[in-house]
Amino acid sequence: MHGIRYASQGINSLSEEQLRAHQWMLLQQQISYCLDNSTYYRKRFKDLDVEVGDIKGLDDFLALPVLMGKDQERLAQNESLEKQGHPFSSYLCARLDQIAVTATTSGTTGDPTFTYTLTHSDLRHLNSGISSMMNHAGILPGERVLFAHALGIYATSAVLPPLRNSGVLPIDVDVRGGTDAILKFAQMTSPTALMTTPSLAQYLAEAMPQKTGKPVSSLNLKAVFVVGEIGAGIPEIKEKIESAYGCRVYDWIAPFAQTLAFSCNSHEYHGMHAVTPEIDLYPLDLIDPETGRHVEPVDGAIGEAICTSLNRQARPILKYATGDIVQIYRNECPNCGFKGPRFKVIGRSDDMLIVKGANIYPASIRTVINEFVPQITGQMRIVLNQPPPRVEPPLLIKVEKGEGMTDEAVKDVDAKIKNALHTRIRLTPAIEWVNAGELERAVTKTPMFEKRY
Ligand SMILES: [Zn+2]
Repeated sequence: MHGIRYASQGINSLSEEQLRAHQWMLLQQQISYCLDNSTYYRKRFKDLDVEVGDIKGLDDFLALPVLMGKDQERLAQNESLEKQGHPFSSYLCARLDQIAVTATTSGTTGDPTFTYTLTHSDLRHLNSGISSMMNHAGILPGERVLFAHALGIYATSAVLPPLRNSGVLPIDVDVRGGTDAILKFAQMTSPTALMTTPSLAQYLAEAMPQKTGKPVSSLNLKAVFVVGEIGAGIPEIKEKIESAYGCRVYDWIAPFAQTLAFSCNSHEYHGMHAVTPEIDLYPLDLIDPETGRHVEPVDGAIGEAICTSLNRQARPILKYATGDIVQIYRNECPNCGFKGPRFKVIGRSDDMLIVKGANIYPASIRTVINEFVPQITGQMRIVLNQPPPRVEPPLLIKVEKGEGMTDEAVKDVDAKIKNALHTRIRLTPAIEWVNAGELERAVTKTPMFEKRY
């Protein structure tokens, strides 16, 4: 097993200082390109009173306010629909005939947004990251990858061309066909890897023995790649998937189908390794989600990740607030020796709860609670009696008892969970215990909340 290096060979020979200088050079070119090719950016800079001449280095750029987010993206999309008759937004900088791929958000809540719109040049950048991930996981050209995402026809389909380019053959399954269809595809095509969500990976591990009489380990996979929700970053979930499938789980992310990051081949989780620093400043641009102020990306820093394209042709983004709350690591990876930034996603800014003045991320609660499996099943919900973020204490958490737990044993684990939550994240919750199997299992994303308002 070899360590992870940056996907582009040229980047590996640069010192940290040279890499920053290179990113600054790319950023200046990207900003000029955006201003030359989109009315959106010219207007946005003017509205926020930002003069390009005032941005004299990376630090100046990092200190700028956030320029974009989902609301801005929708406005820009409405504008292009109205004025130009296409949905690719008023910050589309390439010609329409240069677009090679477009993939959308699901549109289950409102109109879909054509966030993942790429030219051939943009796809080439994604190629390097995807190849690097397949290579690290030992998935060789010619092998087959079962591609089963709940949002299969949406966001994730932007990575199908780079997967094909890396030489592997994606077997794209429409998961709306249900578990039987997914298992049939798996058994017919003998893939060596599975790309899916953590929820679906766990669901299949439970469903396959019931449906076929065989464990998922009988698929003989070399790797499971998970995306779309926090899962592999939680040790017990990583362990659960790895022991069921008998192979390594890799956690990966590609915000805006732009930059790529993935976790390394290790029993212990060391965060996702950002292998394409020439494509995006992510994850080094962080803000405090409450004040919007820049957070220094030092080792251990926590903040909302901001994306900025450094080499994008179709729809470059500048200072786009992703909503992902990440914690970053700056030291060399203790497992694989990767020298660049690593990070783990710890929540969403719109999931954040405020309990007695403290910011609490539901994913942190789940991380602590999951440590008590098998005394609990690992399924839980946070009960909200009023719209977040403010919560009238105590925060109520529904937790499923593990199989065969006596009242006495539940009382004991109740006290231990409360103690762990208090020590680790300063939370004193109330726990409502329910029987194993009572909470609904999700095929797509496991819901975090039960809303009672
Ligand atoms: Zn590593």
